Amino acid sequence: MSVLLDLRGVTVRYPLTGRPRRELVAVDDVSFTLESGEMLGLVGESGCGKSTLGRAILRLVPLAAGEVHWQGRRVDTLSRKEFRGLRRGLQLVFQDPHACLDPRMTIVESVSEPLRSFEPGLSSSQRTERAAALLDKVGLSPELSNRYPHQASGGQLQRAVIARALISNPQLVVCDEPVSALDVSVQGQIVNLLARIRRERGLASLFISHNLAVVAGLCERVMVMYLGRIVEIAPRALLVPAPLHPYTRMLLDAVPSIAPTARRRPVTVAPADVQGSGGAGCAFAARCPHVVARCRSERPLLQTIREGRLVACHRAAEWPAGLPPAAH
Ligand code: ADP
Ligand code: MG
Repeated sequence: MSVLLDLRGVTVRYPLTGRPRRELVAVDDVSFTLESGEMLGLVGESGCGKSTLGRAILRLVPLAAGEVHWQGRRVDTLSRKEFRGLRRGLQLVFQDPHACLDPRMTIVESVSEPLRSFEPGLSSSQRTERAAALLDKVGLSPELSNRYPHQASGGQLQRAVIARALISNPQLVVCDEPVSALDVSVQGQIVNLLARIRRERGLASLFISHNLAVVAGLCERVMVMYLGRIVEIAPRALLVPAPLHPYTRMLLDAVPSIAPTARRRPVTVAPADVQGSGGAGCAFAARCPHVVARCRSERPLLQTIREGRLVACHRAAEWPAGLPPAAH
């Protein structure tokens, strides 16, 4: 396995309106690597910076600090034109399929469209043929493929968007909440489709969701994000039974299906939290049931606890077998 994507200290800030001038640190010093063929999950509550991180990888938002390396090459400093040449290998699927498909084009036209620039040598009928074959693979019949977006369901459109992302034969697809806008029954079908594509093509994916059950069901390795920071990275097989970060524990406690001993409790982001971290101390200190004085003054770094397990918590060594479910 080779490293496909390597982020080092990636930071993104948004200017806040009002005075005095302040900035929101949406992504705060994030580092991780993603191997070719790997399905890596990114989970965290709404507003924690997941989409911003995905967009930073694709250069859709500027970095305030840090580096993005793609296949061993630093890409955040490339010109737009140079980066465009790499975009073929690096695609994005996001939540709203309507935003990705032109309402004036049929589904098959939209899916074939990227081939115009990626493979300019193809004729129009060759492009259509390639798109139709791929649409068939993602489960859309020729009859559906010739419809316009308004004539298809959300699940059908998301299949089309996935086909559009795959048409250039990418090595990595960043999937940003690809099932969150869909009915629960359809979500499972799309998740299964993504898993199958991954198996068949050896495609790597950064799979982003606020839903830990979805992420843990699909990805062998999971990153947990809280207010712009990655607080835990671990293989799913270790993270689910034995979380080391109190925030991961809290997310697991909210998902009864994968943490059967815990009662479901809603997880909410307090308004004060939405200001982004940026400051000293642990970003989770305000909500942490295990908080001690040090957590408020000293920022915990993401550290390797043992092979493949990283956690940013001053107290993680105190629960080597993982945090048990919250008592109730
Ligand atoms: P997530 O995808 O985890 O819900 P986002 O990356 O969308 O989180 O947002 C992270 C934070 O950045 C949020 O507080 C959000 O309000 C803020 N944010 C996102 N996009 C912008 C923007 N274009 N300008 C200013 N703030 C933004
Ligand atoms: Mg988002």
